[in-house]
Amino acid sequence: MPRWSGTARRLLLAFGALLAVFALAALLTLRGFQRVHDGLDTAREGAESVRLALELASAVRDQYAHQAHTIIIGDESHLGFYEAAQKRVLDLLPQVRSRAATPEELAWVDEIAGATGELDRVFRERIVPAVLRGERADVKLEHDRAQLLVTRIQDRTEQLVDGFEAAIARVQARVEASERGTVRGVLALQLASALLALGLGLWVLRSVARPIARLRAGAARLAGGDLDAHIAVDSPDEFGALAQQFNAMTRSLREHQEKLLQSEKLAGIGRLAAGVAHEINNPLGVILGYAKLLRKRADDGTAGDLRIIEEETLRCREIVEGLLDLSRPLPAHPQPVDLRELTDEVLARLREAKLLDGVTVTVEGSAVARGHAQKLRQVLFNLVRNGAEAAGTGGRVDVRLGSASGAAEVAVADSGRGISQEAAGRLFEPFFTTKDHGTGLGLAVSLAIARAHGGSIEAGAAPAGGACFTLRLPGLPGGIT
Ligand code: ADP
Repeated sequence: MPRWSGTARRLLLAFGALLAVFALAALLTLRGFQRVHDGLDTAREGAESVRLALELASAVRDQYAHQAHTIIIGDESHLGFYEAAQKRVLDLLPQVRSRAATPEELAWVDEIAGATGELDRVFRERIVPAVLRGERADVKLEHDRAQLLVTRIQDRTEQLVDGFEAAIARVQARVEASERGTVRGVLALQLASALLALGLGLWVLRSVARPIARLRAGAARLAGGDLDAHIAVDSPDEFGALAQQFNAMTRSLREHQEKLLQSEKLAGIGRLAAGVAHEINNPLGVILGYAKLLRKRADDGTAGDLRIIEEETLRCREIVEGLLDLSRPLPAHPQPVDLRELTDEVLARLREAKLLDGVTVTVEGSAVARGHAQKLRQVLFNLVRNGAEAAGTGGRVDVRLGSASGAAEVAVADSGRGISQEAAGRLFEPFFTTKDHGTGLGLAVSLAIARAHGGSIEAGAAPAGGACFTLRLPGLPGGIT
């Protein structure tokens, strides 16, 4: 069974709802037609009933006319016609009876039947013998009775016709009401389907067309080289997921480009530095040598000036060395390096150089990494020296060694002020420094060394409030630390 996406499911539902409204409208129309059709049938039946009732009235009048002719002519010559008229009345009576729908109409038909029977009896049993005997007075009397019966029959027939016509009018009113209802219902459904279609269109525009347009615009910006392109689609559907993936992709592209830029910058600086290092290093060595020599012979005032020359020359050499470190490849064969031993060595050197005076330093744990002791020593030296400088006199630096998921870790935390906002994004940039006599190369060189080992350095906040730099390096294959 195919797996429908959220948007496809919603589209299917919306179009299904539209189709259902159309189907309902069609059903309503069909039902309306059916009602009108049924109503017309009933009206046709009603008209037939009216016709039969009128025909009955005419047959009774015919019957009476032949009675009258018999009386006027005074013989039996019209009796045959009378018989035929009488037969017609008798044929029509059951037909009219079958059309009577109410008890009242049935009673009227019964009354008509009784009256026509009576009329026939009066004619056959009294009028005809009186006519043949020539008894004018009796004939007149019976004729009056017959006339009364005919009037009653005509009245009832008229009532029947009125009843049938009223039924037809009722059916017609029902048909018209049903017609109006159907038209109204179909119109309402048409309106509903138009509104639904409009809503569907708007929804498609909002939840499909717009996100697609935003995704396209974002992709176009990315294609144009804008790595800050961000797509603001946060709907909980495929488009939202796609936008998230797109944003993640641009973020990672940006990070990769930044790393690439950084390493290209470093490589460029390194190439430049390597080109001039020999030329500068030698004169620097000569300057340093002469400065030291002259200082020994000089009086106090000149010795102070020469010390400054000496210090600044040393700083220059430090910068040149740092630049060279950025470009120097790692030696070929990495060895297991005991990071604890290396840390202790670094601390001893820093103490010797009086860089840890007034700072409490603690070391805990152990870790072994694969790499080059000399290079890693330089990284640890930079991290601990930075920590001690940040902590200052009376502060502390805590070094924690350990291993996690096959990697050796060294975390250097200090009690300083932490990483300033200004420094946060630029810590590892070459020449970025906030110190008066800093070179801004310590962290850049350290990161280059860590990366060349396949590791990383992460800057964060220390529990004591200062900064914490964590060096991660590939551990030994068996995880021995
Ligand atoms: P430098 O020490 O010569 O300034 P680095 O590359 O070692 O060069 O450091 C760059 C900058 O990073 C420092 O100037 C400082 O602003 C910041 N920094 C480094 N270590 C710390 C730390 N432990 N606490 C606060 N800021 C630090």
